[in-house]
Amino acid sequence: MPHAKDFTRHPCFNVNAKGQYGRVHLPVAPKCNIQCNYCNRKFDCVNESRPGVTSTLLSPEQARVYVDKVLEKEPRISVVGIAGPGDPFANPEETLETMRLIRRHHPEMILCLSTNGMNLAPHVPELAEIGVSHVTITINAIDPEITQHIYAWVRDGKVLYRGRQGAELLLARQLQAIELLKRHHITVKVNTIVIPGINDHHVPVLAAKMKELGVDLLNCMAMFPNADTAFEHITEPNKEMMERIRNEAERFLPQMRHCTRCRADAVGLLDHDRTGEMRGCLSACAQLPKPEEVARPYVAVATLEGVLVNQHLGEASRFQIWGEDGQGGYRHIEDRPAPPSGGGHQRWLNISRILADCRAILVNDLGDSPKEILRKRGIQPIAMVGFIERGLEAVYTGKGLAGLQGRMRKCTSKGACAGGGNGCG
Ligand code: SF4
Ligand code: SF4
Repeated sequence: MPHAKDFTRHPCFNVNAKGQYGRVHLPVAPKCNIQCNYCNRKFDCVNESRPGVTSTLLSPEQARVYVDKVLEKEPRISVVGIAGPGDPFANPEETLETMRLIRRHHPEMILCLSTNGMNLAPHVPELAEIGVSHVTITINAIDPEITQHIYAWVRDGKVLYRGRQGAELLLARQLQAIELLKRHHITVKVNTIVIPGINDHHVPVLAAKMKELGVDLLNCMAMFPNADTAFEHITEPNKEMMERIRNEAERFLPQMRHCTRCRADAVGLLDHDRTGEMRGCLSACAQLPKPEEVARPYVAVATLEGVLVNQHLGEASRFQIWGEDGQGGYRHIEDRPAPPSGGGHQRWLNISRILADCRAILVNDLGDSPKEILRKRGIQPIAMVGFIERGLEAVYTGKGLAGLQGRMRKCTSKGACAGGGNGCG
C-alpha cells in the first residue's frame, strides 16, 4: 500500500512526477453541502476543476470497471482520485465504497480526495484504514470575518447555517479535519481560491496557520468569475497577482504551481490529458447496470385497477409488481398482498421485505417514516398521480420524475403513520 509520504508517484504533489505519472478522477459524488459564492452548481465543483464543466456520473461499481479500462489504455496512471462533481463527503457512502473497491482491485494505486472539508473529519479514520494517502481541502480564509463573505451557506445534516455562524462552523470542521488527517499520517494539500478584494491580502496569514497544522503543500488558484454566481462581477486575479501571492505564501509552505484545474472526470498525465479520448469509455461505463438494478428488477405499484397510481401506501391491501418486458415496454408480473394493517414501524419493515426485489414503489403519497424505511432498504418511494406506465418509464429511464407530482391527496401523518390501512395518515 502506498505510504503517505509517497510523493514520488503523485503528479500533483510532486512536480517532478508529472511527466511520468498520471491521475484518473472518478465522478461519483454529485451533491454538495456548502455553497461557495463563486460556484454555479449547474457545473462541477470549481474548488478543484475548471469552471463550467459537467461530468457524467458513475456509481462506485461502474467507477471500478472504468478504472480497469482506463489502466488498460493508460498504464502510467498512479493516482485514483475523487474531486466531485460535488463534494466527496456530501456523498460519503459513494466515496468510501469507491475508495474501498479501488483499493481492493488495484492495491498499487495512490488514493486521493479533494473536499471542502465540511464533513471530512468523521471519515478520517476510515480513510486511513482504506489507505487513502493524499487529501486536498479547499480553505479560502481562516478568519470567519472573511470566510462569511465567501459562502452563501453551509449545511450540517438538515440544518443550513449562513453568515458568521456558517463560517465559524465550516472553519472549525476544516481545522479539525486537518488535525485528524495529520494524526493519521495523511498528506494534506490545501487549495485556496484567491478572490480579489475578499481574501487576496489574507493568504500569507492562512499559509502560516496551515504550516502550523502540518499541511504539506499549498495550491493558490485564481478565482474564475463564473456567470450566475454572487462573485461574477469580481475580476479574475492576473498572473502577476497570483505570482506575488504564491511568493508571499512560499515563506511558509511549498507552493503547487503546476495545477491544471482538472475536471471531476479527468484522465491522463497533467501535460498529456486524455479526458476527451476516454469520454466514450466513461459514458459506456455509466450505462452499465448498477448492482442494485440487477438485484431489483421490479417496481411495486399501489393501484386499484392496474392503470393509474391511485392509492396511498397505507391504504393499499396489495401491490402490483411490474417489470420490463424486454421490448422497451413493461408488463404486470404479479400481485402481492400487503402486510395486515396496523403495526406502524413494523408494517413498513414488512412491506420493504415483501418488496425486496423492487427498486421503487409508485404510490399516491406516504408518510416520512415509511419513506425513510423504504429508502434505507433500497426501495425508492415515488409519490405521484397518473398512469402507471409514466411512473415506470421515469423509474427505468431516470427521466421525468419531477413532472409526475400532480394534485395528490396529501399524507397528513407527519411521519407518525401507523400503517392502519386507512390511508397514510
Ligand atoms: Fe461548488 Fe465545490 Fe463549493 Fe460545493 S464545494 S459549492 S461544488 S465549489
Ligand atoms: Fe492535480 Fe490540480 Fe488536477 Fe487536482 S486539479 S488532480 S491538484 S493538477
